[in-house]
Amino acid sequence: MPLDFTAVDLEWVANQGAAICSVGAVRFRDGKPQEAFDVKVRPQTPYSQWEQWAIKKNHVTFEDVMFEPEWCDIYDDFLDFTGEDVLAFHNAKSADLPHLEKACDSYDLAYRPFDYLCTYSLSKLMFPNRQGKGKHTLSSMCKAQGIDWNASLYHTAAYDAQKCGELLVSLARLVNASTLQDISRGIAFRNVVSDKTIPTDMRSVIEAMPDATIEEWINALYETPANPGDKCRMCDQPLSSKARKQYRPAHCCTAPCWHRLEQQFEQQKKLLDQPPELIRPSYS
Ligand SMILES: [Zn+2]
Repeated sequence: MPLDFTAVDLEWVANQGAAICSVGAVRFRDGKPQEAFDVKVRPQTPYSQWEQWAIKKNHVTFEDVMFEPEWCDIYDDFLDFTGEDVLAFHNAKSADLPHLEKACDSYDLAYRPFDYLCTYSLSKLMFPNRQGKGKHTLSSMCKAQGIDWNASLYHTAAYDAQKCGELLVSLARLVNASTLQDISRGIAFRNVVSDKTIPTDMRSVIEAMPDATIEEWINALYETPANPGDKCRMCDQPLSSKARKQYRPAHCCTAPCWHRLEQQFEQQKKLLDQPPELIRPSYS
């Protein structure tokens, strides 16, 4: 399955109850945006309980939504649009998902589970050392990825959904992932080959043959056998002629040093085999 998913963004007027005031969703196929779902919603939250910070952010006024359908009226359309897709949110866990659930609860609608991934978590995972205020926000990440950005449209649901999708595609490309499922493996691979605490030659070998066995990695380590006078790569002792023969591709002096090298590779293999879990069920 190529980069197929639906990116979703919700805006709301308060943190309690069915407060959603707009829903944006953009279907992506093969990494390209297709149809969009862009719907205004009249919050159940009475106007007196709308929160200033929220409406300041998304610029929604009472007039904008007073004659619009409520969440219970558009929920089925939303489900029809998203279908079986994996949904992408920016900040799913502490923003969009709780609002989805609260809205469904308030109207007694069955909350349908779906698989989702979060570009905010993904950004933190891929750029843990990014500096600056709001360093992993949608706007900051999009700009960093060279994605075209219009600040005046930020915090409108359909725009944010579109940008969340573009960000996901851009991050996937960064780790050479051609499917959503490949992204986590791509991240693991990227982490291993860019980890400066691992010797450069080990990283190059892993990079060149990521699916090889540890034995094949060790065999690929040195193109030429050790010369008389060369030292063990693990302990720096001069290599005897016996060691040069016995641990030829590893440039190790004895079995313990060879095992330590093997362990170093094992560790990297483990990291590659245990990529971060990115796609989650909405009930977990
Ligand atoms: Zn040694």
